[in-house]
Amino acid sequence: MNNQLKNKLIKNDRDYVWHPFTQMKDYENQDHVLIEKAKGIYLYDADGNQYYDTVSSWWVNVHGHSHPRIRAAIDQQMSEMDHIMFSGFTHRPAVELSEKLVEITPDGLNKVFFSDNGSTAVEVALKMSFQYWLHLGKKSKNKFVYLDNSYHGDTIGAVSVGGVELFHSVFKPLLFQSYKVSSPNPYLWSKQHGLSEDEAVSQCLQEVRTLFEEKADEIAGFVIEPLVQAAGGMIVYPASYLIGLRQLCDEYDIHLIADEVAVGFGRTGRMFACNHADITPDLMCLSKGLTAGVMPLSVTLSTQKIYDAFYDEYETFKTFFHGHSFTGNPLACAVALENLRIFKDDKVIEKIQPITTYLQHRFREFEDLQHIGNIRGIGMIAAMDILEDKAKGISFASNKRTGYQVYLTGLKHGLIMRPLGDTIYVWLPLCATIQDIDHILKKAKDVLIELKLA
Ligand code: PMP
Repeated sequence: MNNQLKNKLIKNDRDYVWHPFTQMKDYENQDHVLIEKAKGIYLYDADGNQYYDTVSSWWVNVHGHSHPRIRAAIDQQMSEMDHIMFSGFTHRPAVELSEKLVEITPDGLNKVFFSDNGSTAVEVALKMSFQYWLHLGKKSKNKFVYLDNSYHGDTIGAVSVGGVELFHSVFKPLLFQSYKVSSPNPYLWSKQHGLSEDEAVSQCLQEVRTLFEEKADEIAGFVIEPLVQAAGGMIVYPASYLIGLRQLCDEYDIHLIADEVAVGFGRTGRMFACNHADITPDLMCLSKGLTAGVMPLSVTLSTQKIYDAFYDEYETFKTFFHGHSFTGNPLACAVALENLRIFKDDKVIEKIQPITTYLQHRFREFEDLQHIGNIRGIGMIAAMDILEDKAKGISFASNKRTGYQVYLTGLKHGLIMRPLGDTIYVWLPLCATIQDIDHILKKAKDVLIELKLA
């Protein structure tokens, strides 16, 4: 791109654009990186600099950018049908995608409801669960339980079950009442209470049991990010918690809502994180990787039992009154179908197994660095914390913005390592190779050395 156009775009970005999750004042003296091209695991800026997209462009990209089969699927679908309304009408891409999703998700999820982003997939699940209990005459079951540090999106319902103070506390006056329980964060339970992973899990499950014991009549559902609390700090917890939670939800007649928006589609090394615990949630939310990270689309899957509670004459008001203009967009559905075909044809889940083992093994090496601790991960996700005092688990003062410095220095090294506070992590696309991992970790180490954090 020529310099004149580049400078004009950068200036107009500052003049006209308001970016998400961004303190725009930070960009008074600093430019947003102007990306011109995305291919495979790389992004390229307007000057031709190459960056490793180690966060899969906000955890969405699956098979690498600009995948030829995805491009062809868009072209093919565009030549047939762009968008139609999804009430009174249906179409082949949505029907075939629903059939496939029912086939590959945990047994017992039978119905697919479309929306267009992760937050709305969660909103749909909350509303379905609430309305289900209403139809059963259990009006008092109208509250939800969530984990400390959970993140389920930015719409008001999703924020009501969000546990990240930084993002959510400002909106508190707008939110509906929900119950928060402790996160089964193994690192925290070990540091603060000296508990083993198993002890932490049983303590956290006991807390849930106590709440259910007292409030089951008020609780519609428990919403959870299975295995990885992502935006809350890449907290990885054991599958045994999910198994125990499924049992408790069954025992107390409470819906288990699995928010697999971030972790679905192979990121944890299995197609869905729930597969690690071999459980079926009552409602399951998917987005991000659903379209290989290319088109906005999401789904909420439900059991037949929940669906049946809405199945009646129109006059009984059992209709689920929810939908969006772009519900079931044919282009997005066609892309999602092609994504699933790529998973199957290329045996993606089998192929990534050695890569995930290698990533987790190599990440452990950072444990030796002076200011790095709490290494954890699963599948293609791995994270570490930058700590001032590693032995005591004490962080740097937040105004030092250490994670942000790592990010800025990373850019100079051709690395996109967007931090969560002082947690730095990789969330790799499933196309990443051993060689990519070697290069990424070498660059990450160089950045930490340059900032005297190693
Ligand atoms: N749930 C989880 C677990 C997420 O990580 C996110 C997004 N990061 C969302 C929901 C919200 O998705 P979206 O940004 O597409 O609304």
